Amino acid sequence: EAAAKANAHMAETDAPTIFDKIISKEIKANIIYEDDEALAFRDISPQAPVHFLVIPKNRSGLTRLSKATEAHKPLLGHLMWVAQHVAMKENLGDGFRVTVNDGPNGSQSVYHLHLHVMGGRQMGWPPG
Ligand code: ADP
Repeated sequence: EAAAKANAHMAETDAPTIFDKIISKEIKANIIYEDDEALAFRDISPQAPVHFLVIPKNRSGLTRLSKATEAHKPLLGHLMWVAQHVAMKENLGDGFRVTVNDGPNGSQSVYHLHLHVMGGRQMGWPPG
């Protein structure tokens, strides 16, 4: 079973992901922020009392953070801004964590760049 999970995490592809269906509203998500470039919605499997994802609406090649080019810098900055903006709206003023899982070793499973924002409890360090 552990091997199956590891394999799932290696299934990198350029194909559309479930997040495209969330963007198009084809499948429902609990959306808590939206603008022209970004969308934030609650994680379906929350790892903290507050756990939401921030994604670019146009993935524009960003299957994973390591695909970033110079041209992506403004978008990456915007996603970070959205992360803290929504965190403040979610009353995470005492602190929160922003995580990006990249690739197999990062345990990435959805290949559409996303920031995890988690808070509402004391986070541990180091993460697993
Ligand atoms: P991991 O699955 O190891 O956390 P990722 O960093 O790729 O790897 O995270 C994908 C996240 O997307 C997971 O936290 C998962 O719970 C979340 N997720 C998957 N499908 C949905 C969905 N339909 N709605 C909301 N969140 C989702």
